[in-house]
Amino acid sequence: MIHDAAVSKAREIAHSVLAPSAGQNDTDGRFSTEAVQSLGESGLLGLLLSADLGGAGLGPRTFAGVTATLAEADASVAMVYVMHILATASMSAARPGAAGAVTPILREIAAGRHLSTLAFSEAGSRSHFWAPLSRAQRNGDGVHISAQKSFVTSAGQAQSYVVSALAPEGAGPTDSTLYLVVAGTRGLSVAGAWDGLGLRANASAPLALDECHVPSDFQLTDDGGGFPAMLNVVLPMFNLGTSAVALGLCRAAVSQTTSHLKNAKFEHLGQSLGESLPTLRAQLATMQIETDGLSARIDDLIDHLETPRETTMLRVLETKAAAGEVAINVTSTAMRVCGGAAFSKQLSLERLFRDAHAGAVMAPTGDVLREFIGKSLLGLPLF
Ligand SMILES: Cc1cc2nc3c(=O)[nH]c(=O)nc-3n(C[C@H](O)[C@H](O)[C@H](O)COP(=O)(O)OP(=O)(O)OC[C@H]3O[C@@H](n4cnc5c(N)ncnc54)[C@H](O)[C@@H]3O)c2cc1C
Repeated sequence: MIHDAAVSKAREIAHSVLAPSAGQNDTDGRFSTEAVQSLGESGLLGLLLSADLGGAGLGPRTFAGVTATLAEADASVAMVYVMHILATASMSAARPGAAGAVTPILREIAAGRHLSTLAFSEAGSRSHFWAPLSRAQRNGDGVHISAQKSFVTSAGQAQSYVVSALAPEGAGPTDSTLYLVVAGTRGLSVAGAWDGLGLRANASAPLALDECHVPSDFQLTDDGGGFPAMLNVVLPMFNLGTSAVALGLCRAAVSQTTSHLKNAKFEHLGQSLGESLPTLRAQLATMQIETDGLSARIDDLIDHLETPRETTMLRVLETKAAAGEVAINVTSTAMRVCGGAAFSKQLSLERLFRDAHAGAVMAPTGDVLREFIGKSLLGLPLF
């Protein structure tokens, strides 16, 4: 599969599977198993996996393109996809000792039969995902993990979870290790419902681990290697993925607003809203400018990821921080431009508006990213 084919498959799925049911799934808070099945059948679940595992061997550019395309139709599904791709990347980067356990799972992912996700955030350390409170305890051939994970996208739907916990002998608050916990492990349970303001159809429920046994070959990183993996493997692509979700939401908002301004009429004036009001045209133009600005920023980040350089981490931090703001601004403007029609849910803009608010509170949150950027400019330690 090449870049264009992957994005066109995503467009096809967005059109035929996501768009028709996004509104109802949002209302019902229903996770779309059909969407995951289609992504699996099309080969998109194994997008970044190497060809020898059966994957497409593609990179960040295609990941962003596919994600933005999915998000235009349904941001909940796009976020499920982002979390899956990041969990897969964590497994691909696993230490050699995990190959025996992880390789068959990666093959299942490439074959489209396995969905994974990240379970980093904990109720106790909240958005500071780099500092889990849970600690793995050595137990025979492996460890036991007890943890209260919060906001786990695809909770109860995924076939596996990449879980963080402090290493058994870790001394500091970031001395964590990543483990793969497969669905069905004794002690693993969904510990509540997901009833969010936005991204309502992505099952971001809490997950409890009660003395879950994880065999040693399911330990993905060395002891204490969780934090570097979060920073080097997960963070860049997670920030790219959430930024791509924001871009998809902005594109959908521009498209729906344009259509409303063309089609809604002031019948007494014999004009459409767009023909009648320059203020609305100016706000639509601002939405377009912000959306294209975000797109350019994402392209710049992709370029930095494809050709890493000194400024790459700064771009990783900046892009997600900016994307969260842009998505909120563009969808807020869309709500105002489309007036009561948007407010009364005659249009699906209000779903975009609610979904757009998730990016900035997903860790690293917009505030934390600004903290990191400010500290790094001043030469202060980040943690
Ligand atoms: C839809 C959705 C899906 C999610 N999916 C996942 C998932 O799959 N896996 C996962 O592990 N987690 C996931 N999360 C969790 C997410 O990453 C955050 O951990 C969570 O949103 C934090 O919420 P909180 O109320 O605990 O935030 P808090 O930590 O209580 O933050 C409250 C406020 O304080 C600000 N703040 C916190 N620390 C700082 C700081 N150092 N400097 C400045 N400001 C600060 C924050 O920006 C925020 O505005 C998801 C969250 C959402 C909403």
